[in-house]
Amino acid sequence: MSTLLVKHAQILVTMDDHRREIPDGGLFIRDGFIEQVAPTNQLPGTADEVLDLNGHILLPGLINTHHHFYQTLTRAIPAAQNANLFNWLKTLYPIWAKMTPEDIRISTQTALSELALSGCTTSSDHLYLFPNGSTLDDEIEAAASIGLRLHASRGSMSLGESKGGLPPDSVVDSEDEILADSERLIRKYHDPNPGAMVQIVLAPCSPFSVTGELMKQSAKLARQYGVHLHTHLAETQDEEAFCLQKFGYRPVAYMQSVDWVGEDVWFAHSVHVNEEEIGVYAREGCGVAHCPSSNMRLASGIAPVMKLLKAGVKTSLGVDGSASNDGSHMIAEARLAMLLARLNAGLEGASLSSTGGEIFSVRQALELATLGGAAVLGRKDIGSLEAGKCADFIAINLNRLDYAGALHDPVAAILLCQSRGVDFNYVHGKVVVKDSMLVGLDLESHIRLHNRAAARLFEG
Ligand SMILES: [Zn+2]
Repeated sequence: MSTLLVKHAQILVTMDDHRREIPDGGLFIRDGFIEQVAPTNQLPGTADEVLDLNGHILLPGLINTHHHFYQTLTRAIPAAQNANLFNWLKTLYPIWAKMTPEDIRISTQTALSELALSGCTTSSDHLYLFPNGSTLDDEIEAAASIGLRLHASRGSMSLGESKGGLPPDSVVDSEDEILADSERLIRKYHDPNPGAMVQIVLAPCSPFSVTGELMKQSAKLARQYGVHLHTHLAETQDEEAFCLQKFGYRPVAYMQSVDWVGEDVWFAHSVHVNEEEIGVYAREGCGVAHCPSSNMRLASGIAPVMKLLKAGVKTSLGVDGSASNDGSHMIAEARLAMLLARLNAGLEGASLSSTGGEIFSVRQALELATLGGAAVLGRKDIGSLEAGKCADFIAINLNRLDYAGALHDPVAAILLCQSRGVDFNYVHGKVVVKDSMLVGLDLESHIRLHNRAAARLFEG
């Protein structure tokens, strides 16, 4: 048994049902779970460990629902800098095909370090190619050193160029192998219990890189074990044209035809969805990972976030893979989600003066990054600071240049101003970031290692 007392936060953002924001707030934590959330003077006076957050804002840890950690090795590749999705992929597939298990381990630690320092406490990842003996085990083992919760998605590609798919045949795998490995990973790692550090997700890559049969078999297997399903969907107009031409359906209807709708399914992007398709998501309980940076970077379009939320669709945030962002900064992503939704409202004719209620607020953006993420991943134990939930929280020093003049509303300051990162990050009551420094990894030597690996892939 170990206890942690967190006290004197200038403001504690609970994200509970009443959206309480508690001045001079704190938490009392036992064995990784929150026992009490209250003003400091109502909490026990001491504990095994005490964290004084005087001058800090305390928030639930942020949840990232779409990423490809391995792509931190291929950021800013010159030939992929100014490409749309399909050309970007075709440029990068041959480089990714050279990755080794060590590359997977290095890039996992890099991405999770960035995420941790920018306030993320739970991340999903989507690894969908396994060259040169790589496995999802490489990622899961490397992630443990950083200390974030991981929803590791066993991705896959089975539809190579010779069968009408986008990826070269050299990076696709046989469907029998994919399904056998998926089952092995679920049995080995998936923890369905509250407080789980690792969950497995089945995640065929996209409509243009797997067959309908693999989609169906993956859904069947996932439901047999009660794990979630994830894929890219309705990201670009090229994908929509591909689906119409190859399957005779728009992307969402194609998902319905292969049993890929339900509470256990979430889609990355969903930029090109119409009202009817948003209705399907809402009715069936499908979630969406909104990835604003990536959608802007690849000129994919603007996802209709306000419409998704109004329809009651579970909506969350993803930084997306680091070759299309090219960073893993969760607070920055929440800020961009807010700004992009406002730009979209402006393009659609809303104005601040006439339809103030239509403007995406800071607190809505923080909700996407916390409660929204938990709902999309199917987790009831994270996403807010409440008794009984996991002690996953972040704290930011408000006495920084970044927030000077903005402390009339410290919560708004976090996204309206440009946040650099967090001062503290705790997952399950354990410290991951302390005084803006990562605890589990020596970053200086790790960055050298990462850059060597990236150079080898690019030049080799
Ligand atoms: Zn992606």
